[in-house]
Amino acid sequence: MYKRSKFKPCENCQKPVIPEDKNCPYCGFKVKKEVLPKLIIGVLILVLFGSLAIPSKSHLDKEIKKIANAPVDTVNIRELAKILGNKHADTEILNKIGKIEGKIVELQLQVFVSTYMSDYHRIVTIPSAGIPGTLLTLYPKNKKESEYLKNIKPGQTLKVKGKIEGIYKKRLKINPAFII
Ligand SMILES: [Zn+2]
Repeated sequence: MYKRSKFKPCENCQKPVIPEDKNCPYCGFKVKKEVLPKLIIGVLILVLFGSLAIPSKSHLDKEIKKIANAPVDTVNIRELAKILGNKHADTEILNKIGKIEGKIVELQLQVFVSTYMSDYHRIVTIPSAGIPGTLLTLYPKNKKESEYLKNIKPGQTLKVKGKIEGIYKKRLKINPAFII
C-alpha cells in the first residue's frame, strides 16, 4: 500500500495515480514525472549557497570602498600608543576599545612581519613613538600591490587607511586595511 500523500490525480481521468507509475492504471494516460519541483529546489539551493558564498566578498569590496570614501575619524593615536605601550594598562585598554572600534584611521606604519593569506595580507607593524603596534588585515587593490606586499621587508613603511576593529595583544587591529 502506498501512502495517501503519494497519490496525485491523473491528469486525464482524475483517478489516483502514483508518481512511480509510467501510465495511469485506469486510463493509460502518461503520468508526468515531477522533475520541475526538484529542479526548482536544486536551483534554489544553488542560489542560496551562492548568495552565502559570494556576497561576503562583494560585501568586503563595498566596505573597502565605503572606508576609502569616508573621512578619517578623530582618534588620539598618540594617547592610544601610550596606553598600548604600557605593560600594566589592561583595564585602561579595555575602556578605550569601545571608543575606538569602528573608527577610520590613516597611519604611516613600519612593517615587522607580513604573511600572505591568499585574499589578504596579515601584517604586524612595529610600535614607535606616537604610533601603536598594529595588526593589519590588508587587502591589496590589485596584483601589483599584492606582489609588493609579498616582497615587503621588515622596516619598510606602509601608509594605510582602514577601520579599527579592536585591540589584540596590545596591538591595534585594523580590518579591513588598504594601502593609500
Ligand atoms: Zn487516468
